[in-house]
Amino acid sequence: MNCPAMWYFRGFMQDELIAEYLRKSSWKKAVITTHHKPDSDALGSSLGLYHFLLAHIPEVQVITPTDYPESLFWMPGNDEVMIYEGNETACNDIVHEADVVFCLDFNALSRINELGEVVRAARAMKVMIDHHQEPEGFEDLAIWTTEVSSTCELIYRFISKNFGREAISIESASCLYSGILTDTGNFRHRNTGPETHRAVADLIELGANISHIHEELYDNYRENRLRLIGFTLAERMEILEDCRTALITLSQEDLNRFEVQTGDTEGLVNYGLSIRGIRLAVLIIDRSKLVKMSFRSKGSFSVNDFARKHFQGGGHFNAAGGQSSESFEAVVARFKEVIRYYRDELNEL
Ligand code: 5GP
Ligand code: MN
Repeated sequence: MNCPAMWYFRGFMQDELIAEYLRKSSWKKAVITTHHKPDSDALGSSLGLYHFLLAHIPEVQVITPTDYPESLFWMPGNDEVMIYEGNETACNDIVHEADVVFCLDFNALSRINELGEVVRAARAMKVMIDHHQEPEGFEDLAIWTTEVSSTCELIYRFISKNFGREAISIESASCLYSGILTDTGNFRHRNTGPETHRAVADLIELGANISHIHEELYDNYRENRLRLIGFTLAERMEILEDCRTALITLSQEDLNRFEVQTGDTEGLVNYGLSIRGIRLAVLIIDRSKLVKMSFRSKGSFSVNDFARKHFQGGGHFNAAGGQSSESFEAVVARFKEVIRYYRDELNEL
C-alpha cells in the first residue's frame, strides 16, 4: 500500500498497527536503516529502536548506507551496525530475507543511496518513521509528522504509548536522548515543545546519563576540527549583506589541509546564523563526487522549499540540505545568482 503525499498533511500515525505486528510476533527478521551519513538522530533512533525490537523479533540488523562520525561510536549497539558501503553483498542478502525494514529519519529512498533500490525491491514490509517534510510514499506503514522534534522522539512516543515506558532500556534511553538533544540544537529550535521536555525527563529517569552523553557528543573531537572551524570562520565565510546571508565555502584543498573526516564539518553552518541580522546561513562543500550544501534559516524563510527547488534537496522548514553534480565553482556562482531573487523576502521583517 503506497500512500499519496497529500494524505500526510497533518501526519500519519500507524503506530498501533505496527505495535500489533510486534505483539503477534509476525516478523522474524528485521532490518533497520537510516539516511546517508547518519547523524545522532539517525543513528540514535536506529539503535534506540534496535534494543527495543530485540525483545520482539529474533533477528534484527542495523544497516547504515555509509559511515558516520566517530563521536557516535559510543552508542550502545554501535558494534553490531553494518555499513552498506563495502559490505554490499552481505547487506543485500540480509535485506532480501527480511520480513520488515524500518526506515528511520528519512522519507525518500534516494536518501539511502544504492541501498534504496534494494529496499524498494525487497519483499519485506516497509515501515517509515520520520519527521522530514514531503514524504515520497514508498512505505507500507508509517509513523510520520513534522510536528515533533526528532525521529528519536517518535520512537520514544511509539514505545511508551504502546508498550509502556518501562519497555525502554537504559541503552535505548541513551540513544534516544542523543537524537533529541542534537535535532533540537540542544533544546533551542522551534521544534522543541513541552512534550519534548517530558520525553527527555522520562529518558533521564530511565537512566540516560546526560553529562556523559554531552561529553561523548561534544567534547570528543580531534584538534584539527577546531582548527578547521577557526580557519573557516576567518577565511571562508562571506557575508552577503543585502540578502542577510552568511555563506561558507570549503574546497577540496581546504578539506585535505585539515584532514577532514566524516562529521568534522557538522555544525559549521550554524555559526553564520549567530550573526545579528543574518536570516540565512549556507555551507557549500566540495566533496569529491558531489558538491554538498547545508541550509539553515531563521523565521519564515523555508530552506526546505529553497533546497528542493534549486539544489535537489529538502529537509525541514529551517534546516535542509542539498547537492549538485556541477563543479564547486559553478555551484557557488549559481547560489549567489539564485539568492538574489530572494533578496526582498530575506529582508522582510
Ligand atoms: P544537514 O545540513 O545537517 O546535512 O541536513 C539538514 C537536514 O536536511 C537534515 O534533516 C537532513 O536529513 C536533510 N537533508 C540533508 N541533505 C539532504 C538532501 O540532499 N536531500 C534531502 N531530501 N534532505 C536532506
Ligand atoms: Mn532527524
